[in-house]
Amino acid sequence: MSIRLRLVLSYLAMLIVPLVLSILAVIVVFKLDGSRGNPIKNIINQEADVYADIKLMSIREPESFLQRSVADGIDERLNMINMNLIVRVNNDIVYTSPDISSTVHLGRLPEFGAVSDYDSDFRGQHLITRHEDFLLPDQREGSVFVVSDDNPFPKYIQGYFAWLFTILLIILALTNGVLTYLVSRSIIRPLKALQRAAEEIKEGNLDYQVNPKSKDEIGKLSVAFEEMRVKLKESVELQLQYEENRKELISNISHDLKTPVTAIKGYVEGIMDGVTDSPDKLDRYVKTIYSKTVDMDRMIDELFLISKLDLGKLPFHFEKVDIGAYIQDCAQEITFDMEKRGIKLELTALPEEAVLIKADREKLKRVLVNILENAMKYMDKSDGKISLRVIVQDGKAVVSVKDNGQGISKDALPHIFDRFYRVDPSRNTSTGGSGLGLAIAKQIIEEHDGLIWAESETGKGTTVYISLPAWNKHDREGA
Ligand code: ADP
Repeated sequence: MSIRLRLVLSYLAMLIVPLVLSILAVIVVFKLDGSRGNPIKNIINQEADVYADIKLMSIREPESFLQRSVADGIDERLNMINMNLIVRVNNDIVYTSPDISSTVHLGRLPEFGAVSDYDSDFRGQHLITRHEDFLLPDQREGSVFVVSDDNPFPKYIQGYFAWLFTILLIILALTNGVLTYLVSRSIIRPLKALQRAAEEIKEGNLDYQVNPKSKDEIGKLSVAFEEMRVKLKESVELQLQYEENRKELISNISHDLKTPVTAIKGYVEGIMDGVTDSPDKLDRYVKTIYSKTVDMDRMIDELFLISKLDLGKLPFHFEKVDIGAYIQDCAQEITFDMEKRGIKLELTALPEEAVLIKADREKLKRVLVNILENAMKYMDKSDGKISLRVIVQDGKAVVSVKDNGQGISKDALPHIFDRFYRVDPSRNTSTGGSGLGLAIAKQIIEEHDGLIWAESETGKGTTVYISLPAWNKHDREGA
């Protein structure tokens, strides 16, 4: 439930609950009092009783009204139900209840024989006078007036007013207190949890989770906060990973450069010491030095490339490329080299129609050459065979390079795209690998919004796949 709705409902409840409880309290009070009989009914009954007696008396023994003790008796009974008695003979008031004597405008009492019992303005309040006329034996005209409030209810209520008022106040205070507590708790608790989480994050504890329980505005804020924490954690971890990679890179670079440099130094020292006593030997030494420098040059080149890719400083020039034709060109370039090594290159399943992709020709070529060179480098069969295929799958061009070489073990396969990873470092020294080739290939393919992966079986061969998205009409050449 949203906070807005919760506040609206709580305000409504603050109005409705006290009202309902007050009504219930009034009912309970009256019920409790009613256990002694219905108070209002009692009043009405008593009034009827007294009035019946007065009527009877006015017929049977009207002169009794003139006796003070009788009049007092009736007045007393009337007083119990908030009524008073007045007796008038001719125009003289012969009896007035002590309660009203001073304030009554006696002149306003109904005349003898008047039909109406009521005088709404009697005594300046809303009162009823009921009256009963009688004739005394000496023919004097007498009237008995019963004076009461218009409605006994308000008077009755007065007795309970203090009670009801107190109950109402308690109900109001309780309802407001409970509702305010509940509403504020549901808002303040999650806010405090958020505040705590923010403090934990400030202190560097990025594992502190906020578990939003509500679906209201604060719940949504907590979800956003949690997402922010996860992103922050990921980015910090990524930074740490970068830092770790950088250190590893420096250590790998130092190690990998040290090996050829040490070798070159050894050969040069040999030449200086006169070990190369024959032109043949000297030639071999110089060739080895040359090949080591070529390795170093290549490695420095790859390092330079990977660091530029890392920094995002390597510009890509994307063009609309027909992948079938492009693969054919690349294959032609490398065929000679392959034939020299006795490896057969097969081009299979090239698409008949042009399949356009978005690619940086030069960089994609580097990737393909690297994969093909690997296929040649790690070929251990005399009838070496490499097949190149292009198929279109789900709107993507998938290029595969399959060889029947030594293959890669299951343990090593997930790592071949890692930097400096070599399945067999000692063998690779002889093949001249730096372990950077596939890492660079992966980065270049990812820049193309593509994917690169490999499948392999030890002893049988390896297939490297590259999937590249087709040219999209929103793509721009050169971008
Ligand atoms: P390298 O420069 O050492 O070839 P790469 O990054 O190109 O580095 O390849 C990483 C490792 O993956 C290689 O050292 C090699 O062990 C393995 N590898 C790559 N391609 C093949 C393949 N076609 N057959 C067997 N092993 C391969």
